[in-house]
Amino acid sequence: MWQPTRILVNDELVSFESAGVHPLSLGMAYATTVFEGIRAYRDPDSGTLWFFRLDDHLKRLDQGMKVMRMDRRFDAGAMREALSGLVRANEPDDDVYIRLLVYVEAIGLLATTGPVGYTAAAMPRERSRLVDTGMSLGVSSWRRPPDDVSPPRLKATANYHNARLAHLQARADGYDGALMLTTSGKVSETPIACFFMVRDGCLLTPDTCSSVLESITRDTLITLHRELTGEAVHERPIDRSELYLADEAFICGTGQEIIPVTSIDRLPVGDGSIGPVTRTLMARYGDVVRGLTTDHTHWRTAV
Ligand code: PMP
Repeated sequence: MWQPTRILVNDELVSFESAGVHPLSLGMAYATTVFEGIRAYRDPDSGTLWFFRLDDHLKRLDQGMKVMRMDRRFDAGAMREALSGLVRANEPDDDVYIRLLVYVEAIGLLATTGPVGYTAAAMPRERSRLVDTGMSLGVSSWRRPPDDVSPPRLKATANYHNARLAHLQARADGYDGALMLTTSGKVSETPIACFFMVRDGCLLTPDTCSSVLESITRDTLITLHRELTGEAVHERPIDRSELYLADEAFICGTGQEIIPVTSIDRLPVGDGSIGPVTRTLMARYGDVVRGLTTDHTHWRTAV
């Protein structure tokens, strides 16, 4: 598997090992950072690498920077170029996962808003074995923070403190992952991915006011499901007890892609195997991101 050699720090490509930020920067001291996980997929026939929904990732990053009142904005065209240069410099011969992190690099007090720096790394990412086997989820006693505490629709690093506590608890309890509820007890999402379930033929996912990240994969699957079936995905609050009535379930995200969920709180989802709606979306998603279809070309940007 290829290994990263170069990393981008404030528009400069430097050796992977030499990147660093000051330990007293606001990014370190107060987690004043926002980030994106982006993928570039390799078309196995042509060898072309395609960023998937790059502009949507850059838009969400920009929105996060705005809400966090950072005193800098990136030009999307320049960032596209910089990320392409980063990927090319690492000469990957397979898919690429890019971590783009923006932070207040100043040493200062809580209200410091700049200067803002960024770093971007291109890395290989192995496919999870859970894609094939399905995964177990346990409903967590850690809740997703509400919007008026720490807005989950931002991909702010600070939100992953809570996410990590839930994930560690789930692993200690013997699950593959956690499923988190909102503070009002409705289903939200997992620490690192969104949640979908099938009930009586309908595909459901928590609405965007259920303390979820406004996920790009979630949006992609809502679109693909509508195109495949003519049916809308129901975006609505989901009760915990509805989880146990699901015929199918899966989690999704840029990094995770689509991972089937085969049990929740040790109760089987449906008959405990991977269901047809999940399998259909997995296949279609794979084709779209890899550029094996002629549609949705606006979602793909050549590296
Ligand atoms: N929710 C959380 C908490 C996440 O960290 C992620 C991964 N970015 C997702 C959902 C999925 O978001 P996306 O599809 O934009 O990667």
